[in-house]
Amino acid sequence: MTEPTTNPLLQPWQTPYGLPPFEHIRPEHYVPAFEHAMRAHRAEVDAIAADPEPPTFANTVAAFDGCGRDLGRIERLFFNLTASETSPALQAVEREMSPRLAAHYSAIHLHGALFARLEQLHARREALGLTAEALRLTERIHLDFVRAGARLPAAAKTRCAAIEERLALLTTRFSQNVLADEADFRLTLRDERDLAGLPEDLRAAAREAALERGEAGLWMITLSRSLVVPFLTFSDRRDLRELAFNAWIRRGEHDTEHDNRPVAREILALRSEQARLHGYRNYADYALVDRMAGTPAAVARLLGAVWEPAKARAAAERDALRAMALSHGATHAIEPWDWRYYAEKVRKARYELDDALLKPYFPLERMLAAAFDTAHRLFGLRFVERKDLPAYHPDVRTFEVRGRDDRMIGVFLSDNYARPNKRGGAWMNGYRWQSRANGETLPIIVNNSNFARGPAGEPTLLSADDVRTLFHEFGHGLHGLLSDVTYERLSGTHVLRDFVELPSQLFEHWAFEPAVLKRHARHHATGEPIPDALIDRMNEAKRFNQGFEMVEYTACALVDMALHALPDPDGVDVTAFERAEQERIGMPREIVLRHRLPHFGHLFASSGYAAGYYVYLWAEVLDADAYDAFVEAGDPFDPETAERLRRCVYSSGGTLPPAEAYRAFRGRDPVVGPLLAQRGLADARQPA
Ligand SMILES: [Zn+2]
Repeated sequence: MTEPTTNPLLQPWQTPYGLPPFEHIRPEHYVPAFEHAMRAHRAEVDAIAADPEPPTFANTVAAFDGCGRDLGRIERLFFNLTASETSPALQAVEREMSPRLAAHYSAIHLHGALFARLEQLHARREALGLTAEALRLTERIHLDFVRAGARLPAAAKTRCAAIEERLALLTTRFSQNVLADEADFRLTLRDERDLAGLPEDLRAAAREAALERGEAGLWMITLSRSLVVPFLTFSDRRDLRELAFNAWIRRGEHDTEHDNRPVAREILALRSEQARLHGYRNYADYALVDRMAGTPAAVARLLGAVWEPAKARAAAERDALRAMALSHGATHAIEPWDWRYYAEKVRKARYELDDALLKPYFPLERMLAAAFDTAHRLFGLRFVERKDLPAYHPDVRTFEVRGRDDRMIGVFLSDNYARPNKRGGAWMNGYRWQSRANGETLPIIVNNSNFARGPAGEPTLLSADDVRTLFHEFGHGLHGLLSDVTYERLSGTHVLRDFVELPSQLFEHWAFEPAVLKRHARHHATGEPIPDALIDRMNEAKRFNQGFEMVEYTACALVDMALHALPDPDGVDVTAFERAEQERIGMPREIVLRHRLPHFGHLFASSGYAAGYYVYLWAEVLDADAYDAFVEAGDPFDPETAERLRRCVYSSGGTLPPAEAYRAFRGRDPVVGPLLAQRGLADARQPA
């Protein structure tokens, strides 16, 4: 047991900007530090509840927002590391602590004396003379307590807490199982026959992956999206494509200790019980109450508006793929492991465009600079690299972020390469959130992605899809960095789930603006800017394969909503459900769900996106419509529009209801037309 006085997690962090002193922290520091910080947090909460003074905003709501700071600091560090740079020791701590933390927060949310004070204030909130932000904070904190069960009878409260605790354990197990499956699989390529069709840069990335896993001199495809997707796109070896594809889509679905099917089943049963305890028919109803969409019916309307047009578009795309396959003498049907392969050939034939042509213009370094420059032109930000600051891995780059007047506004960590001990996908998170209530607190924001590293001494080249991902996460990053609020509970990305993808998806638009490409997309060897003809062809190809993309995404959102609308999911067989549901919606047989249920981390690695995978499409209605504001202004960097965007969206965090924030930016409610046009679904029967 480490004493608090020697445990670096419990000391003030004397590093520049209060970054975590990564190099001094060892796995065994966490459990005692968590225990100490939970006790301290509980004591603070007890003191707020026991205050003899009648409740006021300051002594109750603001005091509650400001307590538990040590615990929050340790938690954010810990869960950032278990995602970006985990180890068996950290995973063991995670399995131990996740349920204990859930129990801790349940106990606080079910603290009768504290809730009584919040109830009183909430009832009189309009009469308290609060600022709009303070009013919003009062409502949000009160709602957190209600949704945790604070108003329920004693027996139901106890059960709610037990459910939370069990869910924390199960969701942790779910993501650890996926990571184990991803780490287990490797397709080793030994000679030219195995490499047939693969472009140079993919060969280089596969060589690098093999080297990292101790097979120097060979080539390796792992289940990292940045390796397996290009492999499925380019490999001429249909047998190997099938092998890799099947491993990829079966993650989490094996009769081993890492089988996620029983884990998902139990999670669903618990969520359903949780919803019923709160008086809702099913989990979807319960989840949607606290979303911008409001009801499953509103979600169904949006998904319905795109599903049939997307399928029609995908059917036209499939016919084009079949014709392409035939022209190569292949008479077989298009199978899921053939789609990307022939789509790439169609794209090349139709637009003279392929990734091999584009990638030399998208070196990671330059694309990161492009994202920084876009933030500069829109919001006046400057990113200054600090190589001397502590980081948790040599790949991580650390930047000071400065505003217009050179004022320091935050720290940005950029962690871009795939590693075996890193979760798949790409995400943004915070090591610290911006706030002012307890002294000026600057945000420390991290972006993670899983790009395949270029060979030693050569740049990492991104695909167009990778560039989009980089800008997407950077949009989330800006949402954290530009946050300008008083209370931590409302800071940055602490907004309703179906609003959180607006700043990220909106930022993607700038990645492919000709003005940005001309300036930053330069050939890694010659420095030549990307040719106009290539930009034109990229533009023409923008709607290519959108039927496929919309089908693989929308089907997931439909399955998610149906699954979480089950009134009694006890004992549900998730793979059988998935099959039946796809049958019901008429899923094209050549396309597989973008995330199958046994590895659908959005739904089962936490509860954030449960009955919520639709949020990307919901936010896309907003981002397509929002970007049109710049189009209408005639300038992708129109200063006035950018300033309004900063004020109403990127800086305002959760201080406003999202519909209000959007209206303040756009002057009206969003419309769905720009989304349909953007996806080429407005007239889906036209050739793709
Ligand atoms: Zn996102």
